[in-house]
Amino acid sequence: MKLNVKLLRKGIMGLSIACASLIMLGTGPVEAKGPVPAVKTEVKQTSLTEARINAVLKEAYEKFKNDQGGKNADYIKALAEVDSKIFGITLVTPNGKVYEIGDTKAEVSIQSISKVFTAAKVMQEKGAKFMQEKIGVNATGLPFNSIMAIELHKGSASNPFVNAGAIQSTSWVKAKDSKERWAKIKQNMDDFAGKKLNFNKAVYDSEVNDNKRNQAISKLLDAYGRMGSDPLEATTVYTKQCSVNISSHDLGVMAATLANHGVNPETGKKVLDKPLVPKLLAIMATAGLYDNAGDWLYLAGAPAKSGVGGGILAVVPGKMGIGVVSPPLDPYGNSVRGQKAAAYIIDKLGINPLAQ
Ligand code: GLU
Repeated sequence: MKLNVKLLRKGIMGLSIACASLIMLGTGPVEAKGPVPAVKTEVKQTSLTEARINAVLKEAYEKFKNDQGGKNADYIKALAEVDSKIFGITLVTPNGKVYEIGDTKAEVSIQSISKVFTAAKVMQEKGAKFMQEKIGVNATGLPFNSIMAIELHKGSASNPFVNAGAIQSTSWVKAKDSKERWAKIKQNMDDFAGKKLNFNKAVYDSEVNDNKRNQAISKLLDAYGRMGSDPLEATTVYTKQCSVNISSHDLGVMAATLANHGVNPETGKKVLDKPLVPKLLAIMATAGLYDNAGDWLYLAGAPAKSGVGGGILAVVPGKMGIGVVSPPLDPYGNSVRGQKAAAYIIDKLGINPLAQ
């Protein structure tokens, strides 16, 4: 009799487990009165439907396309000649889905946004600690081409996104000579974009004859013993990297590579080690939009980087890469429509990383 009760209990338990398994297998997270996290995940996914993303993208484009604010950079002559009407927005998800509108194939020079990828290369080769100790990861609070900032910080460039830190980063990319250094930097940008990016010779010619201030910066850093290669050679390679052309589409893919933890969503190639991505994004959050980076972060909450060519990329980790091109700039050097469109999209899609 005792044995029968035990057997019966075992039978009932077995049956219950089998039934529970069947319910779980058969119904999935939609119908099962499942745990709270499954429901939460689903809510987030529905808010980022394709229809919603397309609607917000169109809204942003329509809202800002006639915005006349800002003006093209003119301290590099070739930049003043770029069509200031260009306006393209591209969103790329970490699984490679592309949403875009406007002049998404129109190319401008990448300028300062190139600093992100050269910094990434240096971090990949030398590690996060090297970046922090040798170049720095703090805001300067001064313009991007400030010489005073170097003096104030006792020879430290402060971060890789001001010209001083960017030229320094370029100098630290491992290479036997400047030809190889340039080839590696260009290949790295191509890997982030998933294509061979064009080189803008007109911008390069215009800038290389007019970059005496950057030469002075590199010489000063050299005097402080902070350069990894010949300062003038590094300045020339830096000028080349700024003269690479990008479209909003290219910026979207490059941003999505960072949103996808360092793996290009289109090619599947890993271009930056996953643990280095949040380090790089932290510098973007601190100093990505020149000395107005704090206001940008306060507004949008997403790490971003802009360039005086009119491009801007913003990264929403795990969710979205955003690329915008629109040449007219605000007084800090940030694309006016680019900032407005990216901030609008982040807000309307509810993907501000600091609000998650
Ligand atoms: N090539 C530009 C310079 O060095 C880049 C500036 C920028 O986009 O902030 O002046």
